[in-house]
Amino acid sequence: MLNMERIAIVDLETTGMDPLRDRITEVAVILLDDGQEVARWQTLVNPLVGIPAQIQSITGITPAMVRGAPSFDQIAEFLVEKIKGRIFVAHNARFDYGFIKQGLTRAGLSFTADVLCSVRLSRRLEPQHASHSLDSLIERHRLHTEYRHRAMGDAELVVQLLNVLQRRHGHEAFNAAKHRILKTPSLPPHLPIDALDSIPDCPGVYVFYGVNEQPLYIGKSINLRERVRSHFSNDYRNANDARLSAEIRRIQTHVCAGEFGALLLEANWIRERLPTLNKALRKNEQWVVVDTTGQIVPMAQLNSSQLPGFFGPFSSKRGAKSVLEGLAAEYQLCWTGLGLEKREGACFGFQLKKCAGLCVGLEASSSHQARLSQGLAKWEIPRFAFAGGAFVHEHSVLTGDRFHVFYDWCFVGTYTSKEQIPKTPPPTDQLSFEPSVFRLLSKVDLQPLEVLVT
Ligand SMILES: [Zn+2]
Repeated sequence: MLNMERIAIVDLETTGMDPLRDRITEVAVILLDDGQEVARWQTLVNPLVGIPAQIQSITGITPAMVRGAPSFDQIAEFLVEKIKGRIFVAHNARFDYGFIKQGLTRAGLSFTADVLCSVRLSRRLEPQHASHSLDSLIERHRLHTEYRHRAMGDAELVVQLLNVLQRRHGHEAFNAAKHRILKTPSLPPHLPIDALDSIPDCPGVYVFYGVNEQPLYIGKSINLRERVRSHFSNDYRNANDARLSAEIRRIQTHVCAGEFGALLLEANWIRERLPTLNKALRKNEQWVVVDTTGQIVPMAQLNSSQLPGFFGPFSSKRGAKSVLEGLAAEYQLCWTGLGLEKREGACFGFQLKKCAGLCVGLEASSSHQARLSQGLAKWEIPRFAFAGGAFVHEHSVLTGDRFHVFYDWCFVGTYTSKEQIPKTPPPTDQLSFEPSVFRLLSKVDLQPLEVLVT
């Protein structure tokens, strides 16, 4: 049977298909240790909403039946105790796992499991069959239950399916298919055995440390668990991940309220801690901006309050040049005028009939400048519209409120309550303009800090 393994087979009945909108009406769980059933448990659940008539007719679960049943909140803690630390197995597991996760999140509980979908397992082992629905499998494998379409009946069918598949295909093929689906990561040699188990599946930032606590790599994800484990899954290994696997000694994770907070923290930590691999990946980065006349200026020469009115930012001189070359072609601008080449007389563009002739006196510098300004407009770094600072708000059940505060396009800090936010802006020389943060800010909803602080 399923050797040395603790699994929880879960089946749910619900009021519909959408884990956000619909609710659970019945839960059944069968626990197996090394293939032996050690416990089973089921309960009807009061969804606290109506049950559509067509769903009542499929499951046989009526409003009258669930009226006296506990709500999901009331069984949530007990359910987590039953299934935590086990492989979560279900037919169409995304459905059941999604409903359970949503229900537990609403109840204020966090829960993470490795998920094994028995549809995918069946499809992987028996790809010759088109359908892997429970009805097809019942017929194909002569499975049997008295209670089809009720949670415990369907859970029993999944247990039978696992047994049949393992018997038919043998332990080795069965386990290989299972590991492919679970993407079981291979544990890097110097990590403790449980290092990859407890990583939460929520947004956040992770740090891989090598010997002597040297940061090797910092990354972010909307799903820490999946992302961290993907570094060590055999399927997706690249040269960097192979190196990380050999050198890693410790993993640190930090849970964030959302993707934006994770991006900010990642950018900050990379700047502060200079992890070896991130540094290598960014070694060609040297941020520049372009001034109103098209000249390239290294950003290191400017402080954040000087940046509005410049154009960019671009991650390298080369990147800025290629943008200027594009503009030159589009707007008939002059190559020597833009500083793209240094020569006397007709520029390279003029020889190709692409320069309107600034270099040979055929056009006035004012009209050249007017077209350049037009072309650069979409790259302009605007003045920061919030003199008193601005913030972005994020909230998650796990972390509570997060207020990310900005002055002059610069990230100042993340605070857990509005009382924590400093009343006065930091000195200009302490503000650091991060191009990646600037780019993020154009995509989020900034609000004036006055709204919070007063
Ligand atoms: Zn020219």
